[in-house]
Amino acid sequence: MANVHQFDVVVVGAGGAGLMAGLYASRNAKTAVISKLYPTRSHTGAAQGGISAALGNYEEDKPEWHMYDTVKGSDYLGDQDAIEFMCNEAIDAVLELEHMGLPFDRTPEGRISQRPFGGHTNNETGKPVRRAAHAADRTGHMILQTLYQQCLKNNVNFFDEYQALDFITVNGKTAGVMAVNIATGELHTIHAKSVIFATGGHGRIFEVTSNAYAYTGDGAAILLRHGIPLEDMEFFQFHPTGIYKLGILITEGVRGEGGVLINGKGERFMPKYAPTVKDLASRDVVSRAIYTEIKEGRGVNGKNYVYLDIRPETVNKFAVEDGRTNPDGSKYNLTAEQVLQKLPDIIDFCRVYLGIDPVTQMMPIQPTAHYTMGGIPTNKYGQVVIDDKNTVFPGLYAAGECACVSVHGGNRLGTNSLLDLVVFGKHAGLKAAEYAKTADFEKLPDNPLAESQARFESLKNGSGKENVFNLSTELKNAMFNDVGIYRNEKDMQSALNKVRELKARFKDVAVKDTGKVFNTELLNAWELGNLLDVAEVVAMSALNRKESRGGHSREDFPERDDKNWLKHTLVWNKDGKLEIGYKAVTITKYQPKARVY
Ligand SMILES: Cc1cc2nc3c(=O)[nH]c(=O)nc-3n(C[C@H](O)[C@H](O)[C@H](O)COP(=O)(O)OP(=O)(O)OC[C@H]3O[C@@H](n4cnc5c(N)ncnc54)[C@H](O)[C@@H]3O)c2cc1C
Repeated sequence: MANVHQFDVVVVGAGGAGLMAGLYASRNAKTAVISKLYPTRSHTGAAQGGISAALGNYEEDKPEWHMYDTVKGSDYLGDQDAIEFMCNEAIDAVLELEHMGLPFDRTPEGRISQRPFGGHTNNETGKPVRRAAHAADRTGHMILQTLYQQCLKNNVNFFDEYQALDFITVNGKTAGVMAVNIATGELHTIHAKSVIFATGGHGRIFEVTSNAYAYTGDGAAILLRHGIPLEDMEFFQFHPTGIYKLGILITEGVRGEGGVLINGKGERFMPKYAPTVKDLASRDVVSRAIYTEIKEGRGVNGKNYVYLDIRPETVNKFAVEDGRTNPDGSKYNLTAEQVLQKLPDIIDFCRVYLGIDPVTQMMPIQPTAHYTMGGIPTNKYGQVVIDDKNTVFPGLYAAGECACVSVHGGNRLGTNSLLDLVVFGKHAGLKAAEYAKTADFEKLPDNPLAESQARFESLKNGSGKENVFNLSTELKNAMFNDVGIYRNEKDMQSALNKVRELKARFKDVAVKDTGKVFNTELLNAWELGNLLDVAEVVAMSALNRKESRGGHSREDFPERDDKNWLKHTLVWNKDGKLEIGYKAVTITKYQPKARVY
């Protein structure tokens, strides 16, 4: 067979999770990282606000408080053993990044600077605590660059612009992945003992999203086809502040620095919805508040947006009202210069895309589909688990946004994803290398390329009645409108029907580009197949969960129902039909309590 490569460990994805996994695996095993994007173009590079750790660099903070906030933020659906593990490892993880050379912003004393973020609190006073370590508003960019440099230094083998198409499994064990070299169109087999999926999320199932074009759920869809379940896919986070219509993210760091939300009547509305933490309430709460303001006619000029205001005079006025002070207790006094220094990318986005200067003008924003809490089920060591008993699939790992550990449960706290990448990326890398030490290479099947070739052929040979752009637009609209911030039975059923109809119509797609070199038309069509498969699981899981919890908010079942629904959803593909099952939530220290805003 031509184009066969052999590695102990192969990592699919070169974002924060993939690079961390690759780095740690490469210390103990022959490791390759394959990525459909050049590594430093991964979506991790778009992360703005920060990475959480209870460093306590400005005021008292503790991993226990971080854990409790994360459990509470998850609406008690997060597995508490994994959350505790992550919060305890957070401090060392951030210090490790610092030692690798990550240029964090600094406190006047030279420590890593931290900013407040939604849901991060001092558990004794209920007041916001500064827990998000940051490098201006480019924290993810810095993490990605730092880890990529470390991987190069460690001689990790990179297959840049190789897109994984399939997972190879033999006798219920891992045997490698199939990938296409995007530049040449050649198919490659990467024979491996351990495979780590770190392919990111699937926000491109929604019309308005902060997610990169590459967020097409490839890893989740590939494994679903191999009988691996997906967990808690109904839980998708809508970030409150996306640029109106474009969806581009305006970091929560803006509100962390004192920015406030203002409706079309010029009123600050968050105190009405979350009297204590106000604009820093968790994301599901703020998104729903904005949606309600708009629905009740208080959007700006009757449109679907409100304002985010970081103009210093507004911030300083409300700082007095809120009792916000500087860390040393002195009067909070944000200057235009500080806004430019702390939020440079945000200022740039607004100037470039909107022609608006946030130092003197308010930013038009609306909630944007942002983050999947659900994904490929794993335990806290990144091992993929395939049933309600947490049975491990030998040699298979997942980390980062494509995985569901589950530390975010029903709703993720801001800055906990970057932390999730480095903590669980590291452990997945370590475990994958450890497994490769004792396992043998499985013998490859006779034609591992068959399935991928067949998929490509059918995309090229459809009747041509349908095209990818139309199908994908219909999908995104149905999902955004009917499986969005607020959900109900009728709308979700209609979205699910739509997805199924689109899946049937997808068979009539015909890719016109018959070339091999950079055939992005073919790959876009292949990705649409993944989006459709993943969207069906999202819509079906959401329709099935008859309660409201975290990011899943039902008009017809507005209450959280712990008696019937304090459990994870698992969805399997059994011969093309989806089947639903459940898994218990691990509760260790904190029994579920009603939410207080
Ligand atoms: C705009 C934005 C801002 C954010 N800000 C923050 C923040 O401040 N703090 C925070 O904690 N979180 C933030 N998040 C969330 C967080 O950044 C992401 O969840 C996280 O970066 C995902 O990392 P990852 O390594 O899982 O995936 P990614 O960084 O997206 O990497 C995925 C990788 O998989 C590769 N890949 C995908 N499919 C294939 C395939 N088929 N074959 C080969 N390779 C493939 C891609 O090439 C890429 O390298 C933000 C997210 C967005 C979108």
